[in-house]
Amino acid sequence: MSDKPIKAYKVDLESHDAFSCIVFASNSASARRAGASELDACWEDVELCRRAPAYDQYAPGPVPYGVLIADGWWFECHGCTQTVIDDSTHDADGAVLQEGTYVVRAQHVFCSQECLARHDASARMNVAAQAALIELVETKFPGSKIDSVYVYGDKLEASETGLGALSIAYFTFPGAQGLAEYRFGDGAYVSRMDLELFESRYCAA
Ligand SMILES: [Zn+2]
Repeated sequence: MSDKPIKAYKVDLESHDAFSCIVFASNSASARRAGASELDACWEDVELCRRAPAYDQYAPGPVPYGVLIADGWWFECHGCTQTVIDDSTHDADGAVLQEGTYVVRAQHVFCSQECLARHDASARMNVAAQAALIELVETKFPGSKIDSVYVYGDKLEASETGLGALSIAYFTFPGAQGLAEYRFGDGAYVSRMDLELFESRYCAA
């Protein structure tokens, strides 16, 4: 650990001036490295790494999204991916006349309260769909144990040919050596070594 105080730096990527971030570091070299990593880029891609003393007060970071948005930064809406900018209106002295429609919650920015609500509703439906899939597999294959489930979107959907499984559960059953898969709307996929056991257990007439 360095005992030098950490300070704010603004790191910009070359040829992508829309991609910048604020990082906190004790020197410019480590700021550049941290910025490149945060922006998913290489050291050489960093065009500029400058001190940003206005953000020192937020050390060790992160700078709240609301502060950055008010300073003219833009972000992608976590719900619908549209660009979120400061859409509040101000009078000549800079006082807020009307609050913007964007909402910041924890480490996510939403374009509006409605978009946040839609995102949350969809997340709750995804959880409910996962629970329904678990129940379905446990009912179809008594004694099975769910390992993990994956549901794309907010409802159970059958996979389309050529596209990956949209709703899938991985499970084991008594005596099985490997994981079996259940693809919603399609059926169970069982490894060769467990197939005989699976058929005798669940497919007997
Ligand atoms: Zn949105």
